[in-house]
Amino acid sequence: MAAKKVLLVYAHQSSGSFNAAAKDAAVEVLAAQGCTVEVSDLYAMKFKATATAEDIIGEVKNCDHFRYAEETKLAWEAGKLSTDITEEQRKLTETDLVIFQFPMYWFTVPAIMKGWIDRVLTLGFAFSQEKRYSQGIFKEKKAILSFTTGSQESMFSANGINGDMNVTLWPLQNGILHYCGFQVLAPQIFWAPSHAPAEVRSTMLEGWRTRLQGLLGEEPLSFTPLDCFDGEKGFQLKPEVCEKHATKEFGLTVGIHLGKPLPPNNQMKAGV
Ligand SMILES: Cc1cc2nc3c(=O)[nH]c(=O)nc-3n(C[C@H](O)[C@H](O)[C@H](O)COP(=O)(O)OP(=O)(O)OC[C@H]3O[C@@H](n4cnc5c(N)ncnc54)[C@H](O)[C@@H]3O)c2cc1C
Repeated sequence: MAAKKVLLVYAHQSSGSFNAAAKDAAVEVLAAQGCTVEVSDLYAMKFKATATAEDIIGEVKNCDHFRYAEETKLAWEAGKLSTDITEEQRKLTETDLVIFQFPMYWFTVPAIMKGWIDRVLTLGFAFSQEKRYSQGIFKEKKAILSFTTGSQESMFSANGINGDMNVTLWPLQNGILHYCGFQVLAPQIFWAPSHAPAEVRSTMLEGWRTRLQGLLGEEPLSFTPLDCFDGEKGFQLKPEVCEKHATKEFGLTVGIHLGKPLPPNNQMKAGV
């Protein structure tokens, strides 16, 4: 197998954190397999989190009504995106796998990582009207969310106070990663390391190191293919697809559940 390239997008302020340990483990294990690993250490880079007109070099097309998606598309075509964005897009273009390593903030990624998503995954470069979801631009690439929580696992279960983690993951895994075409690997969740005893934290990191050995060969999560939706009818599920699933116990995915229970663990395990 040809040597693979991995991009690790990392958001933690402290080199003594559990996130730093998870990042270091990934770099070490993947490099030992012969992978080339690039790390975008967002806080160290002071990565700009806001999507503004300053992301474009030179004049924008319409400064009275600045529209980020359209303007960045034109700038991308003309090679006029700011150098920090261009550099991240270069890394992304070259990579086979992207690992997002972060502590969960307010049920999602920290603002600095959301800024990376907003500014790097620009229209034209990362998605277009024609190229998205299963036809997405990055369909040959894999991506994985690897994150820590403050909450215990039970709090993010179907009966837990935070609601089902499968639902929490849907906007990130479907709305961003799969939208851009990535094959999304099951998330790596480190539950509440700050509240865990030292030996449990060591076991969590050991589990991650073991998983990393075979990560690049893992099957991705399942998402409903684009051709199940009717573009002429507002991208709703085609009637024949609804009919086919009428007698099934669960809906198709977390987001498209046909009035049925959500498929358990659809966003947590491959093959569900
Ligand atoms: C703004 C904000 C919003 C938040 N929102 C949420 C939310 O919505 N949901 C939620 O669940 N949580 C939330 N949290 C909590 C947050 O997710 C956790 O604090 C974070 O995930 C813990 O990860 P850490 O890397 O910062 O842990 P740390 O506190 O850095 O580390 C935990 C422990 O691991 C130890 N450690 C470091 N390296 C190693 C190593 N190599 N081996 C073993 N142990 C090691 C550390 O010394 C420490 O004792 C939020 C926090 C903030 C600040």
